[in-house]
Amino acid sequence: MHYLARSLRGGFLINLFALLVANLFSAEPVLSKNQRFEYHDDIQALARSLPDSFHHDEKLVSILTALTAGYPEALQGLEISSDQRLVVCLAGQKFIYDDGLTKTFEERLDHPDIKDMFYQTYPLANPTDRLPKDFDPGRYRIEALFMALYGESESAVAKNCVAVEFCGHSVKFNARCGAADALRAVSGDLTTLLAHKPELRAYVNKLAGTFNWRKIAGTERLSEHSFGTAIDLNVEKAAYWRWQSPTQMETFSRKNWPTEIIENFERHGFIWGGKWWHFDTMHFEYRPEIIAYAKSAPARIPETQTAHP
Ligand SMILES: [Zn+2]
Repeated sequence: MHYLARSLRGGFLINLFALLVANLFSAEPVLSKNQRFEYHDDIQALARSLPDSFHHDEKLVSILTALTAGYPEALQGLEISSDQRLVVCLAGQKFIYDDGLTKTFEERLDHPDIKDMFYQTYPLANPTDRLPKDFDPGRYRIEALFMALYGESESAVAKNCVAVEFCGHSVKFNARCGAADALRAVSGDLTTLLAHKPELRAYVNKLAGTFNWRKIAGTERLSEHSFGTAIDLNVEKAAYWRWQSPTQMETFSRKNWPTEIIENFERHGFIWGGKWWHFDTMHFEYRPEIIAYAKSAPARIPETQTAHP
């Protein structure tokens, strides 16, 4: 530890010295600047403009494409930091693409980088039966990214929320990034569906909430409800992993949940909390980047995917 501190301090002094020398020969102020690559509506060209050492990441183009599909205005460019990390400039903020750390499941939930957000591919196939342990695509969320997209505080998010008519209820949903429009579209499709299948009305005749600035039970992480981008359907029809005994997790099947409702949400950019090992079947959240990635990535059958590919 002391050695590390010493070498870091040593590195800092060398950098400081280099900066002073550089300043002597330059009229411009010299700052330790990241190397910058601007995005001009062409992800492939952006990836090609990076130095060769960054050309080997087979997921980079798919991930940037998914982020751009989900949040069309968000991507500004890439940078390479002084320690040779790729940085994604998104929604006015900078995020490490791959921190290079080996993480446990909990560490990935608590400290995801951009690549971790796409660590597992959300399965678009329906219905879903059992899932492998810790298969939670979409639960690795960079909180600062969602704050940048939807609002940095409870009051900021509240200002961005609008009333949306959802299957006969008025709910608050975030108007940014197309979230409220997407929920309106789901409601339109569900209304048509329920006219043909009135037995499904029980899932939406009562709702368990949308916008609610709060932490996820048992964690320090903000729930996606905090951003006004998640909706819980009728709690009486729900199953939640914390209500289940740990021995039942492995055998828990999602097959009885109505496929039509799930597909309606997925069609408009929502992921279903039922497709997690840590299932939450009443929960849908607007994650167009996760759905876009699922469409572009090779299909994977969850049953055969290990928790640590
Ligand atoms: Zn929820």
